[in-house]
Amino acid sequence: MDFTYSREDEAFRAEFRSWLDQNRQYAVPQLGPLADEDESGWDATLRWHRKLYEGGWLGITWPKEYGGRGGTFLQETICDQEMELAGTGTPFTGPGIWLLGPTLIHWGTDDQKRRHLRKVLSGEELWCQGYSEPNAGSDLAALQTRAIERDGHFIVNGSKIWTSLAHNAHWMFLLARTDSDAPKHKGISYLLVDMKTPGIAISPLIQMTGARHFNQVFLEDVRVPIANIVGVKNQGWQVALTTLAYERSSGQERIMTNRVRELAQLAMRLTRNGHPLADDAQVRQTIAQFAAAAAAIRYTGFRQLTRQLKGLPPGPEGSSIKLSASELGLRIASFVLVLLGPYGKLERGDQFAADQGLWTRRMLEARGPMIYSGANEIQRNILGERVLGMPKG
Ligand SMILES: Cc1cc2nc3c(=O)[nH]c(=O)nc-3n(C[C@H](O)[C@H](O)[C@H](O)COP(=O)(O)OP(=O)(O)OC[C@H]3O[C@@H](n4cnc5c(N)ncnc54)[C@H](O)[C@@H]3O)c2cc1C
Repeated sequence: MDFTYSREDEAFRAEFRSWLDQNRQYAVPQLGPLADEDESGWDATLRWHRKLYEGGWLGITWPKEYGGRGGTFLQETICDQEMELAGTGTPFTGPGIWLLGPTLIHWGTDDQKRRHLRKVLSGEELWCQGYSEPNAGSDLAALQTRAIERDGHFIVNGSKIWTSLAHNAHWMFLLARTDSDAPKHKGISYLLVDMKTPGIAISPLIQMTGARHFNQVFLEDVRVPIANIVGVKNQGWQVALTTLAYERSSGQERIMTNRVRELAQLAMRLTRNGHPLADDAQVRQTIAQFAAAAAAIRYTGFRQLTRQLKGLPPGPEGSSIKLSASELGLRIASFVLVLLGPYGKLERGDQFAADQGLWTRRMLEARGPMIYSGANEIQRNILGERVLGMPKG
């Protein structure tokens, strides 16, 4: 693997680094998709989103006519690397930029692209993802939300669950069954739904961190214009798979490198019997193991990038990254709680809580990444079947 960057790419890096430097005061910490609004401030997150857009640093690979930069995957990676170094990242304001945009670029009509893409990038319209249902998660194709065509509209009835940030979203992309007699992967359609449409009710689901990250969304006789279908009626599963392919590459590989760095800093700051914890060989060795694991994940990310640069479809690297990064996140959080001892139980707001309770909350939310974007057991199945050639279970 050749790790050198071209002169043009280095010039691009310098330009972004300098912009980042000038706009540092707006950057919000790199928190990952589970961050809740009150953590860094929802308004601050939205402001950072807007700043990046105005600077032309969102949608690096998106076509210019839809507000993107028309750049390369490598340039996008360079931006991610620079943000990681600066301790920030693309703000998580929902799955608009990450999932809906690339799906629409691939499958959307010209009208849909013109209507939605620029507003996705600017943050003017935020999105949520209506895939999971109370009885359809890993087995997503078992979904029961129905859309019946009538008078130029789909009439949608059903319920979506675990819908991240639905309470802040202006739009939802959802999957609904449009042919109940077809085999389960057929007869599904992919619809774009305005969240202001009558018949939509949102009920909060509170996480064990106490934060409101996701919701259950009820849809009763919701009228969706036929023009809001993405792809062909009854063939929405193909469109859904495109979204899922982007979902697997969730940027976890970058978050973990920073996480290990923060852990090392914590171990240098915390003292026991008058000595920094980092003086303890066992502590240092554990952190070194985490650093090695984070590096391996990072290089797997480069393998994924290489495929992308060659124009190949996403490979199993996404599953491998998702699986190992989420497990590493849990291992790091558990280790920090051991280091903190009784202080590890203190939450934000307590004067003795280390890093304002950040690590305690990370421990509580570390299970989330093992479930979303396809549960880890499912990733293991994918790796077993596609990489190891094991028989289907
Ligand atoms: C923080 C968070 C945010 C989320 N945000 C969204 C969102 O915005 N939009 C959305 O649509 N969904 C969202 N989800 C839902 C997520 O996609 C589902 O939780 C996930 O797909 C698992 O589905 P489930 O919860 O129904 O569990 P189930 O599918 O019922 O699985 C239960 C358990 O059985 C295991 N299992 C299931 N099938 C198999 C199998 N074939 N082989 C081996 N083990 C298996 C699973 O791994 C899991 O451990 C979110 C979830 C979380 C945790």
